[in-house]
Amino acid sequence: MPRSLSKIDKMSGDEIKDLKHRLHSFQGGECFLCGRPINLEADETEIDHIVPLADKGPDEEANWALLHSVCNDRKSAQNLNLARILMRFENTKEEYGGALTTAQVLEMHGGSTQQLHVDDRGDSVLVRYECRGSIKEIEAPIIVDPNNLNYRSFFIELPIEVLHHDFELNPRKIINADKLIKEFWRKNPQLHVALCRLQIDTEAKKGDVLLFDGQHKTAAQIFLGNRAVPVRVFLNPDKDRLKEANRRAHKELRQVEFFKSVLDDLGQDIFSQHFRRFLEDETGIPKSEKAFIESLEADTRVEMKRNLYHYLKTTVKNSEDPRNEFFDYVELDQPRSKTWPISYDSVEKTFLRHFIDSSPCEAPVDADYDEENDYPRNTERKNLVILMNIVTDYVLREKFDKSLGIAKLEDRIKKGEVIPDNHLRAYRMFRPAVFVVWCEFLKEAIAMYLIAKGKITNDMRNRNRVLWAQMDGRDWEAIAKMIDKLASHKLWIDRGPVISNAFGQTRPEFFRKLLEEGIIDGIGKILGEPINIQYLFNAAGSDNNCLSDYILAIGLDDFSTAIEKYLFYLHEISDLGPKLLCLFDHEINQLLA
Ligand SMILES: [Zn+2]
Repeated sequence: MPRSLSKIDKMSGDEIKDLKHRLHSFQGGECFLCGRPINLEADETEIDHIVPLADKGPDEEANWALLHSVCNDRKSAQNLNLARILMRFENTKEEYGGALTTAQVLEMHGGSTQQLHVDDRGDSVLVRYECRGSIKEIEAPIIVDPNNLNYRSFFIELPIEVLHHDFELNPRKIINADKLIKEFWRKNPQLHVALCRLQIDTEAKKGDVLLFDGQHKTAAQIFLGNRAVPVRVFLNPDKDRLKEANRRAHKELRQVEFFKSVLDDLGQDIFSQHFRRFLEDETGIPKSEKAFIESLEADTRVEMKRNLYHYLKTTVKNSEDPRNEFFDYVELDQPRSKTWPISYDSVEKTFLRHFIDSSPCEAPVDADYDEENDYPRNTERKNLVILMNIVTDYVLREKFDKSLGIAKLEDRIKKGEVIPDNHLRAYRMFRPAVFVVWCEFLKEAIAMYLIAKGKITNDMRNRNRVLWAQMDGRDWEAIAKMIDKLASHKLWIDRGPVISNAFGQTRPEFFRKLLEEGIIDGIGKILGEPINIQYLFNAAGSDNNCLSDYILAIGLDDFSTAIEKYLFYLHEISDLGPKLLCLFDHEINQLLA
C-alpha cells in the first residue's frame, strides 16, 4: 500500500535538515528505535511517524521520530513505539549471543536484588518486601492442593526485585518473545500467571522466589516496562516432584491446541462482533469488509483478516439457507475420524480454500441488492453450499454407510469383506490426498465453463471468485453432470490390488499424476481415462464432445457468437488452449463433413 503523503514529503532540503537537527537534540542524540547514538554527518537517517498515518497518527512534529535508515528498514512493527521495544529485545538478545536467560533479563532491569520475607500463618502468609525505599506488606490466603496437602501456594503480584530465575527447574533460554510482547502491547491481558517456588529458611523466614514457569511472558512484561508481574508461589514444595510435574506439563500433558473447527468458530466470533460494531458506528465511509480492515491499526490487520477468513468458512459450515448437508459427513470434534469419511482439515484444503475469496471484499454490505444481483458474499456462500450439497447427493447421502465405518477399509476388502460400491466410492473420494486434487480440477472445470458462458472473468478465477457468478438452473445442471461423471469413474470402485494399494498413498502429488495422466510411477498407465480438468469439463457439454452440443450447453442461438465466445475462452484458459484448439478443429471438421 502506498504511504499517504506527509508534510515531510513536501519539505525542502534545508527544512528537512533543520527538522532532523531538532529531533536529534530532542531525542538526546539517539535513534528512536535502537537507542544508539546517531551521527547526523555520517549516518544515513530518516524521519518517520511514531503512530503511523494509517492508524490516524497526527502528521506533526510531536509524532515524528528520527531513525537510522537501517533501523527503519528492519523494524518489525509499523507503530514505532512497539517497534522499538521489539528491536531492543532483539538487540539485547544479540548482545548475549542469540538467547537470554530469565536471570539476565531480570538483572539488566534491576531485578533479583532482594529476598522475600514470609510469615507462614497456616491459612495465609504475610509477605514483606522493600519497594522504592518503603516496606510493603501483603497478606495472601494459602491454597492447598486438593490431591496433595503438601503443595501449598498463594497468588500474588510481585515486583521484579524479588524475582529470581530458577535455573534448576527451568534451564531453558528465552529465544522468542515477540508474539507475547505484541500481545501485551495491544493491551490483551496475561491469561496465565507465572509459577514460582520459595524455599523458606525457617530461622530467617525469608528466601529467594524462584520463577520456574512463564519466563517468556515475564520477560515480555519486563521489556514492556512493567515492574511487577502476577505469580503463583509454591511454599517449600517437594522440588523433584515439582520438577517432574513441570516437565510433564510441557510434554505429555501439553495443552492440546484448539482444533481447527473450534478455531474457526472463535475467529468468526471475534470478526463478527468487531465488524458489527464497525457497521453500527462508522459513518461516511463505505460499509465493506475492506473499509473495515483498513479502519484498523496496521499491526492488527493481518490478524483480523485471518478472523475474516475464519468467519467466512464458518458461515459456509453453519449455513441454514440453504442448509449445508455435506457437513453431516464431516468429523468436527477431532482431527481424525473413525466414523465419518471426511475430516474438517480436508474440507478446509478443498472446497473452502478454492471457493472462498479470503481477501476483504470491497462491495458495500448495504448497497441495493436483489435476487439477480446479490451481495457477493451471499452469492459465494449460497453457491458453495449448493455445490457441496450436489456432491453430497451424488456421493454421500444414502451411499456412505455409517455402520460399515472407514477403519482399515482397503484391508477388509483384501480379506474378502463385501463392501458396497457406494460406500467404497464415498470412502475413497474423500481420502485427503486425492480429495485435494479432484477438488482443484473441479474448480478449474467449473471456472472454464463459467468463463465460456461469460459469467466470470479469468481474474475472478484467479482470485477464488468462481462462485461469485450468478448461476441459473442450467449452470447447476452442467456442474451436476461434471460431478456425476467424476463419481462414475471406475477408479473409485476398482477392487484390484494396484488401485487398492494406491489409496494407501498420502501424497497429493501421487494422485495428481494418477488423475491427470492415469499413471503410477514404477507401474505405468493404469487408468484408461484420466480424471483431469478436460474430463470433467467435457461432462458439461455432452457425452461425445461435439461442438454443437457445446453450443447447446452454453445456450447460444447465434453460431458466430458461440464461435467468438469459444475462441475467447480458449484464449483465457491459456494453458489448456492448445489442447482444446485441437479438439475444436476436430469438431469443425466433423461438422463440415
Ligand atoms: Zn537505530
